[in-house]
Amino acid sequence: MSVQTAQPAAGLATPAYPPAQHFIGGRWEDPTSGKTSPSVNPATEEAHTQIAAGGAEDVDKAVRAAHDAFRGKDWRRMAPSQRGKILWKLADLIDEQRANLALLETLDTGKTLFDSSKIEIPLVAEIFRYYAGWCTKIEGGVVPLPGNAMGLTLRDPVGVCGLIVPWNFPMLLATWKVAPALACGNTVVLKPSEKTSLTALWMAKLGSEAGLPPGVLNVVTGPGSQAGMALVRHPLVDKISFTGSTEVGRMIQKEAAATLKRVTLELGGKSPNIVFADADQKAALRGATTGIFYNKGEVCAAGSRVLVDRKIYDQFLEALKADTAARTVGPPTDKNTRMGPVCNKAQYDSVLAAIEKGKAGGARLVAGGQSLREKFGKGFFIEPTVFADVDPASPIAQEEIFGPVLSVIPFDSPEQALEIAHNTRYGLAAAVWTRDIGKALSLARDLRAGTIWINAYNLYDPGLPFGGFKESGFGRDLGKDAISAYTESKSVWVNLD
Ligand code: NAD
Repeated sequence: MSVQTAQPAAGLATPAYPPAQHFIGGRWEDPTSGKTSPSVNPATEEAHTQIAAGGAEDVDKAVRAAHDAFRGKDWRRMAPSQRGKILWKLADLIDEQRANLALLETLDTGKTLFDSSKIEIPLVAEIFRYYAGWCTKIEGGVVPLPGNAMGLTLRDPVGVCGLIVPWNFPMLLATWKVAPALACGNTVVLKPSEKTSLTALWMAKLGSEAGLPPGVLNVVTGPGSQAGMALVRHPLVDKISFTGSTEVGRMIQKEAAATLKRVTLELGGKSPNIVFADADQKAALRGATTGIFYNKGEVCAAGSRVLVDRKIYDQFLEALKADTAARTVGPPTDKNTRMGPVCNKAQYDSVLAAIEKGKAGGARLVAGGQSLREKFGKGFFIEPTVFADVDPASPIAQEEIFGPVLSVIPFDSPEQALEIAHNTRYGLAAAVWTRDIGKALSLARDLRAGTIWINAYNLYDPGLPFGGFKESGFGRDLGKDAISAYTESKSVWVNLD
């Protein structure tokens, strides 16, 4: 593995920061407590700005603004084509602000500027455009009834949606929820991660410039245990859609039960990337490495277990070692960097602890395994790490590490690969690498996971639903499924006599 110098690239623009305030009812609002908390740059370990430390009172204000905006009908009864125009305009404004939004994302998360500016922010705009198109296509149906009567089904917006998102893809994962929720005519209170709130605040401000009526999109920043929990408990919130850890998801489901809120949960994963001997080896290698090292492994669907056909195990492992060793770790603003620091100190500690667990548990460390913090002087840098011959039942093959740590496991037959693939509590994603289409499709049919890639990994499209089986959660973001998730079905019986 090669290492960059710790100096950020020269010539970076000065970021335009949002104020350390919430965005409520169409304007910036101070936190009731008057308190702020730092947003830390993981490459320097320094606070690069402050955000408002919101709590229950701020959430209450935002929920009431969203509730009033929903009752006020300006949004949900707006001509659907006009709603679509506003979402499209928001996409255009995001494109215009791409450089700044991408820079903020990189400073907050440690992801490379290439990824944030060339992949994530453009995808954010695309998702708003995709759902702008849906506004005019949310339809009900007609149902034949006995006698002289007609049945109609309508799709109504759910109401006030509380959207809670994590720090790994801050603006992108917020958009997965905000765009369909708004397209369906709901109003929103968005609670981004307290570690990465900046782009969510700009999203709300740009939404207002695009023409969203006041109160339609509100953002409250602050800790999950306070601002997040207050949103989950608030009686005027109709739905919670949460992306984050399985543990917090479980807690949210329990709390939301008190007011019987609709709940969508997108949680963790331990996704298997299954490589057969007949696969295109070069493509499979690229899928295995980007599957785990893209965004430093801080991807819910990361291919953190690579299952390799024993017939090619040794040669595939050698290639994996060489590719991992050649990956350039360094400051995320440097254009030569392929992997930046992990997002925060808690994550840094937990990834290193998992690596130690792997070493102690007898897995064979074949690449990485060390912190690079000393080497750089500062920053939560960790080497891309590969363990071979991993026992499928061991903690590093079972627990979500959410970092650049790969477990490689051999298998002898498709049946055994399937058994190993299923042997975790998760079911978020999986991939199959083979040239045999019959084998690929039968595995795709049998694998219990929400997304299956065949000869691909980590690819997403606004039209393809995403979500989990088992303890990876339930409900789907994206695609048409999200339109169902943000609407309620209403039946109308019309007596024609
Ligand atoms: P997290 O669960 O700690 O936090 C996620 C969000 O929930 C944050 O906004 C946080 O402030 C809030 N939160 C925390 N405690 C809360 C509480 N008690 N009540 C209400 N809100 C609360 O997760 P994280 O550390 O930010 O993100 C990493 C996790 O997210 C990983 O487990 C990863 O797999 C998962 N994730 C899943 C997906 C998916 O689509 N399935 C996508 C990305 C990340």
